[in-house]
Amino acid sequence: MELKDVYYQYPGGEWALKGINLRLEKGKKVAILGPNGAGKSTLLLHLIGILKPKKGAVYFDGSRVEYTKAFLKRLRQKVGLVFQDPDTQMFAGSVFQEVAFGPLNLGLEEQEVRNRVLKALEVMGIEDLKHRPAHFLSYGQKKKVTIASVLAMSPEVLVFDEPTAYLDPKSSAELVEIMEKLYLSGKQIVISTHDVDLAFSFADWIVVMKDGRVLAQGSPVEIFTDK
Ligand code: ADP
Ligand code: ADP
Repeated sequence: MELKDVYYQYPGGEWALKGINLRLEKGKKVAILGPNGAGKSTLLLHLIGILKPKKGAVYFDGSRVEYTKAFLKRLRQKVGLVFQDPDTQMFAGSVFQEVAFGPLNLGLEEQEVRNRVLKALEVMGIEDLKHRPAHFLSYGQKKKVTIASVLAMSPEVLVFDEPTAYLDPKSSAELVEIMEKLYLSGKQIVISTHDVDLAFSFADWIVVMKDGRVLAQGSPVEIFTDK
């Protein structure tokens, strides 16, 4: 994925991205690191085409992202975003229904949907929750359900906005382990975080952002020695 000279301004607001040039290589664990308000979430929303640059362009696999229904549908099968707050990504019903929602929307056959849902629940270790109403789960469990929902779409790239926010240390560690496992299974992983320790321990490529700009990028060692 690539962003070329991307600028974005929220309606009536300030410029949240001010000329982002960025190339996210395949096969790397990337962390977008920066304080609150740096523009990290805004950048991630550009990667899946939810936001459209006011200036500049986004590329996926060499094609320039087009903001048509058809293009965005294809893009979102390849790039899955796990939002910071699981409640923004949940609908209603059981955990099974929740995770089945995306694949059903793709028009897949019932058996295929079922296989994908069960596989995703297994990867997340939450098969036993499948008949439970998603709304009444704990925060950490909801987080796992939303990740399972994204996995069930079989994306090539998984994007996590502040993956460990509001999780206790044990759930955070568990989530990092899951991200490692997904990476080892061949998924490209991009996370945003304000947590320097998480970026340094998890990522092998770090992009430092502040005030809508990329300040530096490189391997953890390069970033560390620059400071
Ligand atoms: P980060 O994810 O690094 O915390 P964001 O991308 O959320 O940063 O925010 C970047 C800037 O854009 C901030 O100044 C924030 O206040 C502003 N912003 C974010 N979302 C909105 C919105 N929906 N409307 C207006 N301004 C927003
Ligand atoms: P194995 O024991 O064969 O390694 P896992 O259950 O660990 O099987 O899953 C292997 C990988 O397959 C997962 O880490 C994940 O990347 C991918 N995967 C699993 N379920 C799904 C799914 N529903 N959609 C997309 N990818 C999946």
